[in-house]
Amino acid sequence: MAQNTEYTVDPTRLVAPETTPADFEENNLRPKTLEDYVGQDKIKANLRIYLRAAQQRGEPMDHILLYGPPGLGKTTLAGIVAQEMGVQIRITSGPAIEKPGDLAALLTNLQEGDILFIDEIHRLSRQVEEVLYPALEDYALDIMIGKGPSAQSIRINLPRFTLIGATTRAGQLTGPLRDRFGILLKLEPYSPQELARIITRSAGILGIAVTPEGALELARCSRGTPRIANRLLKRVRDFATVQGDGTIDGDIAAAARRQMDIDAMGLDELDRSLLRAVIELYGGGPVGLDTLAAVLGEESVTLEDVCEPYLMQMGFLTRTPRGRCVTRLAYEHLHMPVPRRFDEDADDGQQSLY
Ligand code: ADP
Repeated sequence: MAQNTEYTVDPTRLVAPETTPADFEENNLRPKTLEDYVGQDKIKANLRIYLRAAQQRGEPMDHILLYGPPGLGKTTLAGIVAQEMGVQIRITSGPAIEKPGDLAALLTNLQEGDILFIDEIHRLSRQVEEVLYPALEDYALDIMIGKGPSAQSIRINLPRFTLIGATTRAGQLTGPLRDRFGILLKLEPYSPQELARIITRSAGILGIAVTPEGALELARCSRGTPRIANRLLKRVRDFATVQGDGTIDGDIAAAARRQMDIDAMGLDELDRSLLRAVIELYGGGPVGLDTLAAVLGEESVTLEDVCEPYLMQMGFLTRTPRGRCVTRLAYEHLHMPVPRRFDEDADDGQQSLY
């Protein structure tokens, strides 16, 4: 299907939750302790207990799986666990471990108690996963030497380590891999109040002046995601410098947001195009994800991982077995006439679906 230019938008999105070159200062902004890690209270409470138990027993932590959308603080949390346990962390990602030998090299270089962090762990190849199983269960590597009838398997013992896996799509993990994690932690989107605290904290580190109203205004359009909050903060600093006295207050934050084409609910061009396409081309839905992706000139995974979680969280979009549908709220938000059918079935909102 040909791309529809009216709905196709610039791929360099300010509110994209993945890392971009604009996030180069990210490491400075990462909290180093659980105390400094804002929000995710349930996860922090559980982690404190697991950490203390492991420390009291003098053992490494159980393997941990962190899951949730990009930019919510998975890498940061892994770093904090390492810091609290007083061990080294090695950071890699599923696609970077191409062959079983790459994983073997990583594992044999670990010290007792170290943490291996594998981002996007759902993208490990099957062969690499097979090597990982005995490593996770028995701290051992089974290596085949030779070929044909004379081939032999030898076992190499590994130091006891902790694997922290991170994924945006827990559903794509194979059952055997998921079962080998003792601790599963799901990160939730942050509230505007939590994001405002993160923004105020980051502003302090970067030496940016921001008022509580300014922080809250930015927080509201950060789509529940700290990475976006930090990025907006840095971008809006420029507006405050040029158009104000350098301080980000509520007015400057709102004006900058409008200039960047982000609406008060944090929706950008792509989100709005998606909703408009469902409404104008498909009568509000249902419409299949792949069809939408073709119309918008986007990858299906981008829509699914980046736009949809937030649109669903805000109650603008629902997923049904027959495809995507917009809700009454979406019509209202876009100032489009609400079809009569919404008056009949009063509640069609299916909230929060990470
Ligand atoms: P992920 O690994 O889930 O993609 P990161 O851990 O890289 O996300 O976090 C992205 C950025 O957001 C980091 O720079 C970090 O400073 C910030 N951040 C994430 N979670 C928090 C939090 N709970 N408190 C403060 N800052 C956070």
